[in-house]
Amino acid sequence: MTRLQALFGGTFDPVHYGHLKPVETLANLVGLDRTILMPNNVPPHRPQPVASSAQRKKMLELAIADKPLFGLDERELRRDTPSWTSQTLQEWREEQGADKPLAFIIGQDSLLTFHTWHRYETILDYAHVLVCRRPGYPSTLPDPDRQAWLERHLTHDPEALHSLPGGKIYLAETPWYDISSTQIRERLARQQSCHDLLPFAVEEYIQQQGLYQ
Ligand code: ATP
Repeated sequence: MTRLQALFGGTFDPVHYGHLKPVETLANLVGLDRTILMPNNVPPHRPQPVASSAQRKKMLELAIADKPLFGLDERELRRDTPSWTSQTLQEWREEQGADKPLAFIIGQDSLLTFHTWHRYETILDYAHVLVCRRPGYPSTLPDPDRQAWLERHLTHDPEALHSLPGGKIYLAETPWYDISSTQIRERLARQQSCHDLLPFAVEEYIQQQGLYQ
């Protein structure tokens, strides 16, 4: 099989098991060689993160320290302009060459708003899109035109992700993790433990930094 690499973008404020564990299963399901976590700097669609860029980067480093599947890409943190996924994937495609299979990972909730992303149609020109399940979000799109777009690009065959450089959407049967960064920030603000929601080293760092209090 050709080596398949994926980028996984997010705010990671903070990173949690709902980010890491579905991707570990996904890697086994589709033969993912490497997943590069890419924290964004100025998320165009949402309020600014609570933790600084340096703190979010440090939490990611701690979370993946013993996980060879994962790497970290800081390019969006280095930019002071909005983190447009289409632009980042275009750059990544140019670096990797035209033929290499590349993918971008999102959760089910992000698929529902995907059509609002800047130049969303072009994303499939640069990479496949791999979707992890997330509790509370349907796997079909409410708008018939969007659903038709989804079905045009859908594949159920992981082999297709290796034989083509990009252009396919794969809805992965990953386990559900009912975890969000919002829920973690709220729990920490109430002085509640989050040890079942994120890696210990990340929770320890959050305490040391006095984050989300
Ligand atoms: P917040 O609660 O602050 O909005 P979040 O938990 O949704 O944050 P993000 O960093 O915004 O986390 O998400 C990055 C990516 O990870 C998105 O594509 C999102 O869909 C996905 N994701 C986050 N949590 C989960 C989860 N529990 N299961 C599956 N995918 C997830």
